[in-house]
Order: sequence, then structure tokens, then C-alpha cells
Amino acid sequence: MRYAETKPPVLTLTAGPVDAYPEVLRALGTTVLYDYDPAFQAFFEDVARKAQAVLGTDTPPLILQGEPVLGLEAAAASLIAKDDVVLNLASGVYGKGFGYWAARYAKELREIEVPYNEAIDPESVRSFLAENPDVKVVSVCHHDTPSGTINDINAIGGIVADAGALLIVDAVSSFGGIDVSPADCKAAIFVTGPNKCLGCPPSLSLVAVSDAGWEKIEANPDAPFASMLSLKDWRHAWKKTEAFPFTPSVAEINGLNAALDLYLAEGDRAVWARHALTAAVCRAGITGMGLEIWAAREEIASPTTTSVKMPEGIDAAPVLAETRARYGVSLSAGRAETLGKLVRVGHMGPTAQPAYALVAAAALGGALKALGADVDVGAGLAAAQAYWDQAIG
Ligand SMILES: *Cc1c(COP(=O)(O)O)cnc(C)c1O
Repeated sequence: MRYAETKPPVLTLTAGPVDAYPEVLRALGTTVLYDYDPAFQAFFEDVARKAQAVLGTDTPPLILQGEPVLGLEAAAASLIAKDDVVLNLASGVYGKGFGYWAARYAKELREIEVPYNEAIDPESVRSFLAENPDVKVVSVCHHDTPSGTINDINAIGGIVADAGALLIVDAVSSFGGIDVSPADCKAAIFVTGPNKCLGCPPSLSLVAVSDAGWEKIEANPDAPFASMLSLKDWRHAWKKTEAFPFTPSVAEINGLNAALDLYLAEGDRAVWARHALTAAVCRAGITGMGLEIWAAREEIASPTTTSVKMPEGIDAAPVLAETRARYGVSLSAGRAETLGKLVRVGHMGPTAQPAYALVAAAALGGALKALGADVDVGAGLAAAQAYWDQAIG
């Protein structure tokens, strides 16, 4: 029996979008209120306050009605002025990609780039900023999803703050799965979204802006307003007494509310531990069967995505096709520079469960074996389960 491509897979264990929590799906199907109904205005403020609690910020984040690429592009458009020099930190496809937006708004873009299985060395940022005191804005991706690698944004944030520059952080695929917050990395703008670790469908951006960030945006004559790319428009929209610049995505706010309730009920530490354990079980399975993790070092391997290097001479595309057709398990390919070279298993929101890591490792190992790779699937699964068992205690 093979699983047909025309039907949904049995399990979606991708690096985002993820299969949403059932509670979120049910909430998406609830009443769509008129946005100026007082019940919706109060509800919107309530959801914004919950998002604030989850992000640990002084004011509610902006909730933009587009998946997080909107938040990232709006951050570049709003914060970066025509006379700004921007330093972009690129350790992967998303980090590199932010530089293209930054360059569109900046006077000049400078870059520190490292191989896409590596992380940015915070000390390289310190010396770069010492030699380039004209840099006003620094941008970094926390978890570069197509590589499954993590940058030390708290260290980078401290260095950027010491240099008097402002930091834009893409934490889209890490927030809600890892201990990370706008305050800890001193971000001027911190962009995330509910469609990765919070377990919602792709739909919204959550954007936290610091006081220093707002000061720069308000002083930027080119910051967009009356525009889908505007952060300014939404600054006060969370208050039930304020008008919305445009119609908010009512159904998606219902879904986000359910996701935030789940997160708050489980508790952040428990959520992070669940993601970390799932990734560790997955890595134990992968290395136990003789495969290699893409990340150069285990310390920089993401707790929300495991990227697996393809063995010499094997392209990722037929492996992914086989994983899906043979076992009904959908995994992710790489992107751009990492395309073909790796396969990614997502551990995000509802799929951050060790049982899914075992299934993913079994499916990936089985598919590789079927394609002639030298992998010991049984040894990998035994190692994964042993890791899980010792963690249970
Ligand atoms: C998912 C993701 C985004 C949003 O981009 P899409 O490619 O549209 O999904 C942005 N940044 C990172 C790091 C992401 O993982």
C-alpha cells in the first residue's frame, strides 16, 4: 500500500506551517463578529493583552493580518530610514533574505555571513560594530528554519545595545517553543507569528516594538502609514476605544485566542521543555541510525526543527516523496541553498511530542533505506526510545 499524493498525509511533521491544535481549529469556526461590535473590540484588547503576557512586554504587540513575512517587511519599512546603515547577520536563508528588504529601505547594507550550518559569533558582531560605528540598525534571525540552527540573540542583543544600535529580530519559528523574549534580546522590533510553535494556521504576525523602536519609527519620515506595511497604524489599535486602521482578521483572532489560552495553561517552561525533549529524542534517533545532523554543533541545533543532512549522493526530494508515499508522513525540504541537501522534521506546537519524533525518525530512516542508503533504522529507534525513557526517569 502506498499513500496517494492527492490525499492529505497521515501526519504532518513539517517545519511550519504546522497542523493546528484542535482547540484552535474549533475556535476558527466560531462566530465572526463585526469588528466594531463592542464585544469584538473588548475581545481584541483581551487577546492583545494575552499576547503581551506571553511575550512579556510592557505593551501589547501589534497583531497584523498577514503571516509573519508581513511583520518582517513592515519592520524593515518602518524602522529603517533612507540615511541608515544596516548590518544584517546571515546564518541561513531567512537571515540572508531579510537583508533584501533592509537594503530596499537603507542607505547601505553591510553583512556578516557564515556558512548555513553555523551560527553568528556574537564577538564578530562586537568587532564589526566597533569598526563600523555608523551602523544604526542590526537584523538577525533567531532560528534560521531552513537550516534548523539557532543564533545566540541574547548575546547579540546586548552587544548591539552597547553599541547604541537597534535590533530587529526574526523569532518566527522559535518563539513559543524556546525561552526567548523581546526583553531578553533587547529587540527594538521582535517579529513572530502564531503559525509555528503556537500551533495556528498561517495568518497573522505578532510584532513587539520597544520604546526605542517606536521613537525611531515615529521620527522616520519614510515610515509607511495608511498601508498594509505600516506598524504606526496599529500602534494603539489594541485598545477597545481606538479605531482599527483596517479590518482585523476576526476568525484568526478567535484562533489566536485559543492558542494563547493553551500556551498560558500549559505554562511556558513546560512548553519549552516539551519542544527540547522532542528535538533531543529526534536527534538521538537520527544519529543513532548513522545519519548526521545538519547543524555544525549540537548546541546550535534547534529545539523546534531537526535538520538532517542527506548522505553523500542522495538528494532530499526522492527521500521526502518516499517518506510520504511509504509511511504517510510529511516532512520539510530545505530552502534555496539548503534545498536538496537536508530533510527537516518540525517539532512545533502540537507536533512537539517525543512520540512524533520516533515516527519521523522511523519514516525518514525507512525511506532512506528503501533508496539504498546505509542506515540502521532499528539502532536509531532504540537510541531515540532510550533517550526518551531516561528523560522520563
Ligand atoms: C516561517 C518563517 C517565516 C515566515 O515566512 P514564510 O516563508 O512565509 O513561512 C519567517 N521567518 C522564519 C525564520 C520562519 O521560519
